[in-house]
Amino acid sequence: MAEADVKRSLPDVVAPGRLFIGGEWEDAASGKTFEVIDPARAELLTEVAEADAPDVERAVQAARNALDGDWRSLTASQRGRLLWKLAQRLEDRKDDLARVETLSNGKPLFESAIDVAMTIQTFEYYAGWTTKIEGETIPVSVPHQFNYTVREPVGVVGAIIPWNFPLNLASWKVAPALAAGCTVVLKPAPETPLTALMLAEAAAEVGMPPGVLNVLPGGGPTAGGALVTHPGVDKISFTGSTAVGRQIARSAADTLKRVTLELGGKSANIVFADADLPVAARGAIGGIFYGKGEVCAAGSRLFIERGAREQMVAMVADGANKLKVGDPFEKGTRIGAIVSEKQMNTVLGYIQKGVAEGAELVTGGRRADVGPGYFVHPTVFDGVTNDMTIAREEIFGPVLATLTFDEVDEVIERANDSMYGLAAAVWTRDVKKAHYVASRLKAGTVWINTYNLYDPASPFGGYKQSGYGRDLGRHALEAYTQVKSVWVNLR
Ligand code: NAP
Ligand code: MG
Repeated sequence: MAEADVKRSLPDVVAPGRLFIGGEWEDAASGKTFEVIDPARAELLTEVAEADAPDVERAVQAARNALDGDWRSLTASQRGRLLWKLAQRLEDRKDDLARVETLSNGKPLFESAIDVAMTIQTFEYYAGWTTKIEGETIPVSVPHQFNYTVREPVGVVGAIIPWNFPLNLASWKVAPALAAGCTVVLKPAPETPLTALMLAEAAAEVGMPPGVLNVLPGGGPTAGGALVTHPGVDKISFTGSTAVGRQIARSAADTLKRVTLELGGKSANIVFADADLPVAARGAIGGIFYGKGEVCAAGSRLFIERGAREQMVAMVADGANKLKVGDPFEKGTRIGAIVSEKQMNTVLGYIQKGVAEGAELVTGGRRADVGPGYFVHPTVFDGVTNDMTIAREEIFGPVLATLTFDEVDEVIERANDSMYGLAAAVWTRDVKKAHYVASRLKAGTVWINTYNLYDPASPFGGYKQSGYGRDLGRHALEAYTQVKSVWVNLR
């Protein structure tokens, strides 16, 4: 095979892809399939079975059986060992996983490799937790009574994820859920279901009991909606847009499901004139253009203190121009393909709106000519004000809005003037100012003199309409457990 064909060859398990239910590969009850497209070539990659309500029914049944059966009968350390083995299996498959992620998402191969590495770390991190989920003894004031708590799994978890970090975000749900003793029905996004199926294959290969992890590629309102309303699902862990998050919270209310919502963002990246400006410029560039800007925490609003404005805008624009847009498999490519034609058109629509509303287009602003694929040049706007659409709405593409400020409290107020509160950053050499601003920003993550850092041990999630609940760390784990209080009469 020519090198290009090797890159594009798909593992058997996704060519075509099927549903993974109760440890078996199944067709959809309807027999329907959907197409998965390579956005870098605008070409069909493969077809995948399309789950809907009857398949959700079977998967939830399998997950319930496993919950009260094989999964519960394992000791905590046996469960941890399986999670660790799964991490090792993913390590064995890491090159294939990264390739397949790039094929369907369009991101540069080095970024997919980072995603896979983070996925492995996440499974390793939670593998270590299984033996550390402890209860308490409570000094109750009722005479002659002993009271203790145990943390038990919440039950069957429906995990619904978007297309921007397909495998990695799957691990953010699946790893803590399984560590807590839950079982999972995972619905990946239809643009990028392939690595989730490879995850299912790896789970089966390391001996994960059937039904512990089920994977159902399919549509949001159909398969996703059926998961959210199913009475056999105890918790929905969702990552996606704020609009869909609201719908999920509403329809999960009928069965009083627990809901974790990791939603959109419009994160403020604040640069003071006393910062190390070249470093801040690099941070600003990575903050918005990593992942083609399809990053929930993207630093899409760059606030620059007036004295540093010209220099910063020039450095950021220059850096943006140097980012190579192109084939995600080519070495040196920094901006891959936008995930779909639809998303590309959304991004280009926002760029037009920015121009129409009077922002100054400094660089980019158009589709990049890389064959038929869906590429957009990294785009920088200057002269943006808080009321413009490109400062308010999540674009989810390589488009940066720069805004100018004069005072510390002014920039805090303007940074917080958003329905979102996912992340923020502040760049300054002044320690006091850095911590003061961090304390005032209404965001679930604040970076100081850095951007886009994540770790399985550090909680991630939103303030305000960026959602509630947390992924990662101990906080995520706890939300997959529930507390039982046990009373013992000592007399
Ligand atoms: P989306 O449209 O909200 O979709 C996310 C997932 O939900 C997809 O699998 C989708 O399937 C499904 N879905 C849609 N409607 C549904 C419904 N009524 N019931 C159940 N499931 C439903 O988001 P997206 O466009 O794929 O992803 C981009 C968004 O994700 C951005 O807003 C981004 O900020 C957010 N995000 C947040 C985080 C975080 O950690 N906070 C991380 C990454 C991304 P369909 O595609 O078939 O509709
Ligand atoms: Mg969508």
